[in-house]
Amino acid sequence: MKTPFQGRRSALVSKLKESKLDCLLVTGPASWYYLTGFTGESGALIVSPRGATLVTDGRFTVQARKETSGVRIVMQKGSLFESAGLFLKGISARRVGFDPVLLTVAQLGSTRKAAGPRLRWIPAPAMVEALRMRKDAAELAQMRKAAVLAGEVVEEVIGLLKPGIREFEVGAEIEYRMRKKGASGPAFETIVAFGAHAALPHARPTAKRLRKNELVVLDLGVILGHYCSDITRTVFVGRASRRIRTWYRGVLEAQSAAIAAATNGARCGDVDAAARRVLTGYHLDHLFLHSTGHGLGLEVHEDPRVTRGQKKRLEPGNVITIEPGVYAEGIGGIRIEDDVAVHADRTEILTRVPRDLIEI
Ligand code: ZN
Ligand code: ZN
Repeated sequence: MKTPFQGRRSALVSKLKESKLDCLLVTGPASWYYLTGFTGESGALIVSPRGATLVTDGRFTVQARKETSGVRIVMQKGSLFESAGLFLKGISARRVGFDPVLLTVAQLGSTRKAAGPRLRWIPAPAMVEALRMRKDAAELAQMRKAAVLAGEVVEEVIGLLKPGIREFEVGAEIEYRMRKKGASGPAFETIVAFGAHAALPHARPTAKRLRKNELVVLDLGVILGHYCSDITRTVFVGRASRRIRTWYRGVLEAQSAAIAAATNGARCGDVDAAARRVLTGYHLDHLFLHSTGHGLGLEVHEDPRVTRGQKKRLEPGNVITIEPGVYAEGIGGIRIEDDVAVHADRTEILTRVPRDLIEI
């Protein structure tokens, strides 16, 4: 029976032919998992029309044989990249593609040296990442579960927010609860920010205690069955002022506008612009300090990027976050983030947590 991994390798081989490459050196863990099912921490995968070969060290060879099917496993001798180079020297490939973003200069140097002068090295950025952008039905099903799980954790943890609790306690509760529900871990370092600390879009949990009349930003994601989710909710401890309510409404409207714009065929830059336009109407655009969203999948930040001016068009199977926010030094921040999947005829919100302002 053909595994999804074999189908993905066939799709990659077609792309190699279009790009006139004899093989591709794949060095990112998410991409080698995507193509083979191998979950080890070290490896170099070489994919060519003749088959796929995974070079890895003695810690992972048994695991690699168990996890993969139809993949040749080669035990590395010396360094990983020397071994990959020696393997390439022994096959008939001439034009070898590599990702200039993922492979370091030193790694490329030792691979080339071992492979000898016969080969030509062609920069081929993001070839596997381009395939990974279009999730199939099984991947979408897994991402739905990861999104629902993250939402359950958010809703539980909002119930724990009482004046006096510390940011790191809330962070620990979040990660404990996600693991208890079956996640293999957080998709990124959990963000818990109280009050003025929430003005930093990427605040790490500190010993700060929650006080009345503060904003709380919770931004978390889980890895479940290899796939990531990413959700943010902002709550207010007490009765929010008119200004905070207006800002929250602005962010929520911006997010709704961007979700509505995130349809099959839309340019990512136009999705970003939809959020920015609403915030401009609220005179808050200068407080929106990052891009509107990012692709999500085996990694928490993937293509496509939902940023200003991005010309890439959304396609069915893309999963992106939509996460506008406003940040004011000395006051705090408000961000609302959900994960959405683009289908041919509709856009599906994967994260299932109410988005209205919660006052506790
Ligand atoms: Zn997030
Ligand atoms: Zn995000």
